[in-house]
Amino acid sequence: MTETAPIDGALGARLLAWYDRAARVLPWRAPSGTRQDPYRVWLSEMMLQQTTVAAVGPYFRRFLSRWPDIAALAAAPREEVLREWAGLGYYARARNLHDCARRVVAEHGGRFPTTVPELRALPGIGPYTAGAIAAIAFDAREVAVDGNVERVVSRLAAITTPLPQAKAGIRALAGAMMPTVRPGDFAQAMMDLGATVCTPRGPSCPACPLRDVCRAAASGEAERYPVKLAKPPRPLRRGVAFVLRDAAGAVWLTRRPPTGLLGGMVQVPTTAWSEAGPDGAARRAACPAPELDWRALPDPVRHVFTHFELDLAVVTACMAEAGMPDGEGRWCPAEDVSGAGLPSLFRKVVGAALEAAGDGAARRRRGTRLSRR
Ligand code: SF4
Repeated sequence: MTETAPIDGALGARLLAWYDRAARVLPWRAPSGTRQDPYRVWLSEMMLQQTTVAAVGPYFRRFLSRWPDIAALAAAPREEVLREWAGLGYYARARNLHDCARRVVAEHGGRFPTTVPELRALPGIGPYTAGAIAAIAFDAREVAVDGNVERVVSRLAAITTPLPQAKAGIRALAGAMMPTVRPGDFAQAMMDLGATVCTPRGPSCPACPLRDVCRAAASGEAERYPVKLAKPPRPLRRGVAFVLRDAAGAVWLTRRPPTGLLGGMVQVPTTAWSEAGPDGAARRAACPAPELDWRALPDPVRHVFTHFELDLAVVTACMAEAGMPDGEGRWCPAEDVSGAGLPSLFRKVVGAALEAAGDGAARRRRGTRLSRR
């Protein structure tokens, strides 16, 4: 790591003065000078993991209107929580959110604990989230280092050690910047600076309150930081998704197993996903009605997960006569599919199938038969 600029509490105090002028207005943020609601802070931090502020806003408002406090959320049926979360991604967070609400009610009388160790003992709360809740909701002198803070600090000090090795040093420097007062506002000020001024591309250095001490800005190489190790390319996995419709056009929906990727979420039946792709036996085993005439859409649906990309071939069939497919599930009218709680991947799959069906016979003729071998 390069020798650091004078990074101390005086910088934090300057940042607070900037924050008082330039703080973002966010749906979960209490007006300056009023007490933050721990439930709102926790809910927003859980939603913001791996997701943007713009994407989270509507979800946050919906959750708050349906479940205005932790007791209401804890009492909600799991399926309803997953349904409201649908589209926000990283579905283990939704399960953790619900488990955490239940634990706070059962073990803490419905009041969030105030210390980082107690918070970290709750489901879905890691070091960053615990620090953020303790600082923002309880004004504890805790450091919360997210991607924004990593970027700001690594630029201020021109840290050449790549992430993730640099994390401990960044955390120490962020702690050194903490002013003697308002640790919660300081945490939010660091996040705001990273989100609105010290952005990943094209940071607005002339508008930055810390410009005069910033080593990266002085070198004219702000975008070089934070230094990251090159990531290996994501592997490509393949699978087959089965969109089965009845004579009225309703879509057959099932539910994924409670744990694992997209655990507990609504889906259309699918094979397992692997780099080799499913063989004929795996396709038959996953197919909800193997006796039908299944046809494949010309193009697979591509979806990017954190650790792999997925090409999901979409095959469709119609169960024209009254009957039930194999396995547990339900028929969902086509007009209700958008509110069925499908995660983004399966929204894309069903959307592609419905679009193809609405495109008439010409498009259907271009589809190829799914091999039944
Ligand atoms: S001066 Fe530029 S690079 Fe340095 S912290 Fe401010 S915005 Fe980021």
